[in-house]
Amino acid sequence: MQTKYIFVTGGVTSSLGKGIICASLGRLLEARGLRVTIQKFDPYINVDPGTMNPYEHGEVFVTDDGAETDLDLGHYERFLGVPTSKANNITTGRIYLEVITKERAGVYLGKTVQVVPHIIDEIKFWMQKVGGTGDYDVVITEIGGTVGDIEGQPYLEAMRQLRYDLGRKNTLNIHLTLVPYLAAAGEIKTKPTQHSVKILLSFGLQPDILVCRTERPMNKEHRSKLARFCNVDADAVVESQDAESIYEVPLLMQEEGLDALVVKRLDMVNDFGSKVSKSVGMEGWVAFVKSLKAPAASIRIALVGKYVEHQDAYKSICESFIMAGAKKGVLVDLKMVLSDDVTSDNVASYLEDVSGILVAPGFGDRGIEGKIESVRYAREKDIPFLGICLGMQCAVIEYARNKCSMDGANSTEFDLDTPYPVIDLMNDQRSIERKGGTMRLGAYDCEIVPGTKAAAIYDTGLVSERHRHRFELNNDLKDNLSSNGMIFSGRNPDKDLIEIIELPEHRWFVGVQFHPEYKTTVGNAHPLFDAFVDASTELARETGALTEPRPKTRQNIKLATAKL
Ligand code: GLN
Repeated sequence: MQTKYIFVTGGVTSSLGKGIICASLGRLLEARGLRVTIQKFDPYINVDPGTMNPYEHGEVFVTDDGAETDLDLGHYERFLGVPTSKANNITTGRIYLEVITKERAGVYLGKTVQVVPHIIDEIKFWMQKVGGTGDYDVVITEIGGTVGDIEGQPYLEAMRQLRYDLGRKNTLNIHLTLVPYLAAAGEIKTKPTQHSVKILLSFGLQPDILVCRTERPMNKEHRSKLARFCNVDADAVVESQDAESIYEVPLLMQEEGLDALVVKRLDMVNDFGSKVSKSVGMEGWVAFVKSLKAPAASIRIALVGKYVEHQDAYKSICESFIMAGAKKGVLVDLKMVLSDDVTSDNVASYLEDVSGILVAPGFGDRGIEGKIESVRYAREKDIPFLGICLGMQCAVIEYARNKCSMDGANSTEFDLDTPYPVIDLMNDQRSIERKGGTMRLGAYDCEIVPGTKAAAIYDTGLVSERHRHRFELNNDLKDNLSSNGMIFSGRNPDKDLIEIIELPEHRWFVGVQFHPEYKTTVGNAHPLFDAFVDASTELARETGALTEPRPKTRQNIKLATAKL
């Protein structure tokens, strides 16, 4: 069966939420019984976002097969519940690297290597790579950036050619655009969308469906004006009004009929027969959104990190708290604490009003001592603590310094001359000089030690978790830590590396060398986040810190009322 390709482009401005629209449509098609994957093409020169800091690019998401990817892949996985891979996120840098590597190997001997056809052909190859496995009925491709961007042009040409090659019945272009409200004129404006569609037309692309981001509802007149001037059918103008939560977007898109339209346009009922169900099974999703929107209580948890000013830097962690909270009927009110500001003198002023403390992943020494002080506060005050990657490493450093008489203990990432390198590079990392893609990346097994907190949380003896780090707990010093009470409850059997630490004397103190946040999906919060939220809720209940959820104050928000 021919795989169907849906291309999603963006117009007028960036940040319209193409990733959420792709994920929402993907979820709706999945609920109709189709096998769906989503991939993203990013028009920048970095081979992957792994070398960019979170201020540049938000969180770097990591796949099972060890790709460092755009954070939109996190949305795709959370919405679809299906893992993505290296081939689901391709950048211009990667395309050029592939072409230049082939050129050096003599693949194009005798030819001038050019954007057309070689770069375009390479893009077309990658656009069909995941679909070519035969594992999917539908491949949704998000084109990063905004149409008209210089660097995006090769992707539009590749799309045009693929539409030509595969036929209109097998390909679709959804254009996500902004329909702004002008307060001075008191009306919403369609002109920017008309211009943006003209840009697409100049590349030989006629969009099939317009998804219009609006602050205010569009009326019939706006819709027919857009349809007429953009040359699309009136039913193909879909409104996407701002939603309170991204998890309402699939329900709003369903109300607008986006998935029904897509199924019709791609002739899927004929092509896939009874496989494409008419009634959409979104009951579980509706139940999830309901619990999300009606929490019984609110708890405050601190997220201590050095990128807290950037709203997307800890995306998967924040979403994991949303999922775990929804499951437990509590709203997790995250208090973002900039680790640079925290000292032993002021730590209480930052953390005395929280019922749980998460110390975040990170690289480099900025804010490290603040993170270590936060761990110490959590440990001494018996506040639930979750340390992720660098957060776990800080917990080990803190314990070594303050409970194991290892003065000056540190990670060699921050102090090469430390007398107690409790966190250190393993031999296989010492000789590595290149930065891109050389960390310990992707899924590794972790054996769980029976009788520990980790064993109770996971309820299984072997798990697989995703990694993104260079440094490890130093096995040469681990006896000093364990003889003073630290427990190692998870271990990678192949490399003999410590994966999970615990303090049994403490009410809930867990550090993990991996990133549990990458494995949360809608309806399936990662068990560590579940258990951490439980422990924090318990403490909040004991101390009277369990509060009424704060009322929402945002305006012009569309609610998926029909469903909820
Ligand atoms: N900087 C640490 C390392 O490389 C931790 C990385 C992380 O938190 N992801 O090991």
